[in-house]
Amino acid sequence: ADDLALLQGDEVETTSDGGEAGLPVVAIVGRPNVGKSTIVNRIIGYRGAVVQDTPGVTRDRVAYPAEWNGRRFTLVDTGGWEVDVAGLDASVAAQAEIAVERADVVILVVDATVGATDTDERVVQMLRRSGKPVILAANKVDSRTQESDAAMLWSLGLGEPYPVSGLHGRGSGDLLDALLEVLPEVSAVANPLPADGPRRVALVGRPNVGKSSLLNQLAGEGRVVVNEIAGTTRDPVDELIEIHGRDWWFVDTAGIRRRVHKAEGADFYAVLRTQQALEKAEVAVVLVDASEPMTEQDVRVIQLAIDAGRALVIVFNKWDDVDEDRRLFLAREIEQELRRIEWAPMIRLSAKTGWHTNRLTRALDVALDSWDTRIPTGRLNAFLGEISAANPHPVRGGKQPRILFGTQISARPPRFVLFATGFIEHQYRRFIERKLRENFEFEGTPIEISVCVRE
Ligand code: GDP
Ligand code: GDP
Repeated sequence: ADDLALLQGDEVETTSDGGEAGLPVVAIVGRPNVGKSTIVNRIIGYRGAVVQDTPGVTRDRVAYPAEWNGRRFTLVDTGGWEVDVAGLDASVAAQAEIAVERADVVILVVDATVGATDTDERVVQMLRRSGKPVILAANKVDSRTQESDAAMLWSLGLGEPYPVSGLHGRGSGDLLDALLEVLPEVSAVANPLPADGPRRVALVGRPNVGKSSLLNQLAGEGRVVVNEIAGTTRDPVDELIEIHGRDWWFVDTAGIRRRVHKAEGADFYAVLRTQQALEKAEVAVVLVDASEPMTEQDVRVIQLAIDAGRALVIVFNKWDDVDEDRRLFLAREIEQELRRIEWAPMIRLSAKTGWHTNRLTRALDVALDSWDTRIPTGRLNAFLGEISAANPHPVRGGKQPRILFGTQISARPPRFVLFATGFIEHQYRRFIERKLRENFEFEGTPIEISVCVRE
C-alpha cells in the first residue's frame, strides 16, 4: 500500500515522449542560430524524471513534453530545421506560421547581441496577426552587462523582453514564469483524446506511400459518415468512416487529401503534421511502400508513432507491385530495420486494388486491445517474482539488484514502474519487456518500463 501511495505523488512521473493530447502547446520561433534549440534543451532539461528506458531517442521530433512549477505543456521546437537560405525571410516566417497556427502561446527568440533584424520584424508582424500571446526572449544575454542589449528589443513592440542565456540558463526561470502567466489551463488547439466513441486512427508515412489511396479505398468500401455525432465537437479535418458496420475516426485526413507545403520546409511540416495526427489518434497505421527499398524516413515515422505512445500497425502497401525478388529483399529489410518492433502487426495490402484491406480493422482491434490492457498489480507481481527467481539480475560489484515491486501506472499505452534495490541494467530491462510481452500479449502496443531505485 505504501508503494501505491508513492505513485500518487510527484516522485514518479512518466509521460509519453511525444506531445501529449490536451496539454497547452508552446511554440518557439525565431531566426536560425538565435538559440531556439538551446533554449528548448534547457526547458525540457528541467523535467525531473525517473530513469527511463527510451530507446532511440532522436531529435527528429519537434514536440516535447515540458514542465515548469508543476504545470505541464508541450513545447514545439522549430530550431534545427532547415530553412531556405535564398528566401530566408519568407521561409522563417512560413515555418513560424505553421508552428504558431497550432500553438497556444509563442516564445519569440531574438539574438540580443545582434538586435532586431528585418526577419525578426517580419515574424513579429505575423505573430501580431495571429493574435496569440507572445513572450519575447532576448537570448545570448550571458552576463548582467549585456542586459542593455535586451532592453533595445522593446522596439519590437511585444512588451518586455526577457533577457536569457540559453547557454548558461541565466534568466530562464523568469522567462518560464512569464510563460505560465499567459499559458491557458486547457489548450485551444490540442484536443484531449475522447474517452469513448469510435476509435481514432492516424494514417501516417512518408509522402507517396499511398495514404490518400488507402483512405479513399476504405471510404469507398465503407460509408463516409458526414454528420457529426450529437453533442461532440470535432475537427472538420477528421473523417468518420464506417467499415464492416463499425465507425472509425480517421484523424487529420485533410492533411492527407490536401497536399500542402510539399516543397518549402517540407521536412519540418511533415514531421509536425505527423506528430499532430499521432497526438489525436489512439492507433497509428504506418504505411510503407513495399515496392521500393525501405528508407530512413520510413523508420523515422515508425519511431514517431512509438514515441507518441500510440498503438501501432504497419502496412506494407503496393503489394500488387511486389515481385518475388523484392519480396525476399523486403523480408531482409524487415529483419534488419524492424526487428525492434516485431510486436507490431504487419499487413501486406494494396490500396490500389483493395487486396487485403479488409484485414486492417482486425489488426487495429488487436493493437488497441493491447494498448488498453491493464494488468492487475497482484498478477504483475506474481509474474515479476517468477521471472526474477528463474532469471535473477546479474551480480555487479558484489551486489545484486532486486526488483521489489512493480505496478502498471497507466494504460494507453501500458506503462510500468519497477521498484528495485539498485540500478537495473538496460539488457535486463529489455529482458523483462520481452517476458512481459510473452506473458501478456502486448501485440501492437509500445510499453514503457521505468525503474525507481530505492536504497
Ligand atoms: P537555433 O538555430 O535558433 O535553434 O539556434 P541554436 O540553439 O542551434 O544556437 C545557435 C548557436 O548559438 C549555437 O552555437 C549556440 O551554442 C549559441 N547559443 C545559443 N544560446 C546562447 C546563449 O545564450 N549565449 C551564447 N553566447 N550563445 C548561445
Ligand atoms: P500519399 O502521398 O501517401 O497520400 O500517397 P498517394 O495515395 O497519393 O499515392 C502515391 C502514388 O502511389 C499514387 O500514384 C498512387 O496511385 C500510388 N499507389 C498508392 N497505393 C498503391 C498501391 O497499392 N499499388 C500501386 N501499384 N500503387 C499505389
